[in-house]
Amino acid sequence: MEKPAIAGGTPVRDTKLYYGHQYVDKADVKAVEEVLTSDYLTCGPKVAALEEKLCEITGAKYAVAVSNGTAALHIAAMAAGVGEGDELITTPITFAASANCALYCGGRPVFADIDPDTYNIDPASVRQKITDRTRAVVAVDYTGQAAKLDELLGMCHEKGIVLIEDSAHSIGTKYKGKPVGSISDMTTFSFHPVKTVTGGEGGAVLTNRGDLYEKLLLYRSHGITKDEAYYVNESHGSWYHEQIDLGYNYRLTDIQCALILSQIDKLAQFAGRRREIVERYDRAFSQIPQLFVQREIPESDTTRHLYILRIVPEMLTIDRRGFFEAMAAENICCNVHYIPVYWHPYYQKLGYKKGICPNAEKLYSEMMSLPIYYTLSDQDVDDVITAVRRIVAYYKK
Ligand SMILES: *Cc1c(COP(=O)(O)O)cnc(C)c1O
Repeated sequence: MEKPAIAGGTPVRDTKLYYGHQYVDKADVKAVEEVLTSDYLTCGPKVAALEEKLCEITGAKYAVAVSNGTAALHIAAMAAGVGEGDELITTPITFAASANCALYCGGRPVFADIDPDTYNIDPASVRQKITDRTRAVVAVDYTGQAAKLDELLGMCHEKGIVLIEDSAHSIGTKYKGKPVGSISDMTTFSFHPVKTVTGGEGGAVLTNRGDLYEKLLLYRSHGITKDEAYYVNESHGSWYHEQIDLGYNYRLTDIQCALILSQIDKLAQFAGRRREIVERYDRAFSQIPQLFVQREIPESDTTRHLYILRIVPEMLTIDRRGFFEAMAAENICCNVHYIPVYWHPYYQKLGYKKGICPNAEKLYSEMMSLPIYYTLSDQDVDDVITAVRRIVAYYKK
């Protein structure tokens, strides 16, 4: 086998491959154009149309479109009742927003460890972290694979805790045959360009509970209501509205809603291609003892957002950093998802100690994210596989 580029060989590719990329077609452009020349750029019919569509594809009763996935998590945590001194349990292997939403509310994120094989939050670890201050659990469907939702829901409801599912990775995924979005107390989506479906920016919260839905609507738009049923004082006339709580401007524009709607038309296509890429990688890497392939639970029918390459460092003479740099030398630009949230300096300053979630920290030291997106060709995927094979063959013990 040829030497890896980092050791003097010729790179597998001469153009760079990145780990993610959006796909925008003519239909998307047309959908956006139509909004630009219509009467509404925001607060118009495309917002309601997107919310309806999200309910239709997930089976959820209610959807609230918001400006991004972080805003979705923030108002979900507020609706769950997270306040001063309250605790919210989540995984450290996630984007910081899954934990930051507790801090926005004056609460405290508490980190439960992950399952070392699926990389999702471990319900047994969640159980150990529950206290009488726990108001919410944020379960992330990491890489797109559904977390153990039944166990988590059972545990949360037994203790009066709200389960928020961070589905930023998992639009299109089913758990026990039901689409994510219709299962947990609240489910949040993100439409950032690296996610499976994009609006440039964008997010949503889905729920089946009317009480939560009403709170989400208020928090999305300043805490202002135009619904008489909620008025504290008497109406002054048809212009009247009241601010009855403190909310934000987390609204999503009609321009973005139109793009997201048009992208959702391609969700099955996107999901299918992502599945093919995962199969191709899995088939190749399961033959290589120096690599560990992420385990899937049979309950999850997964639309994969990330593909994690995990090395077995005991069987190689290089570590993750060395492997990552060797991939970059082949012109394959990986990424790492994620640095354990509590390792970030801001969290260290808040007093979180390293070592609290050993499985998460071990995973972090052994993994990288490989390219996976709709327009990745079979040749691109094979290039990635060739690069991995070369590096393993050269550095194996
Ligand atoms: C992307 C992401 C978010 C945040 O979504 P934004 O739309 O970027 O605000 C939250 N959680 C996870 C797991 C994500 O991947």
